Amino acid sequence: MSGFKLGKMTFGSLFKKPETVLYPVVKPEPPVGLKGHVVVDESTCILCSLCVKRCPCGAIEVDKKARTWAIDHFRCVQCGSCTYECPKGSLTMLPTYETVSRQKRVHTFTIPEQPKAAAKREDAGE
Ligand code: SF4
Ligand code: SF4
Repeated sequence: MSGFKLGKMTFGSLFKKPETVLYPVVKPEPPVGLKGHVVVDESTCILCSLCVKRCPCGAIEVDKKARTWAIDHFRCVQCGSCTYECPKGSLTMLPTYETVSRQKRVHTFTIPEQPKAAAKREDAGE
């Protein structure tokens, strides 16, 4: 590259907006097609464990006794398989970046008992 071209480029860049943003203070618009991260709707999940079986990375754990659904976002490769397979449509890919984290941790959600199941248990006198 000639010195003239380089000088022109350098001079021009003085008047341009910066290409970078101060993430996470400034959050850029997610690009079209960004899969983002998996979120669960606790109110519809029935703890069937189908998502656990379909996940190729072992990123999801379901504990029926403790009524918990957990995801390790560091293992997840955003393939979306769990969201297609969930029979209740409880899983979606939120097209945003995950919150910045300094520690590897699993996100655990407590799943409330479904109203129908709770009513059945009440009828049975449990
Ligand atoms: S998220 Fe869907 S597939 Fe996974 S346990 Fe809940 S209902 Fe089953
Ligand atoms: S998106 Fe893919 S890798 Fe991530 S939790 Fe779902 S099935 Fe597993």
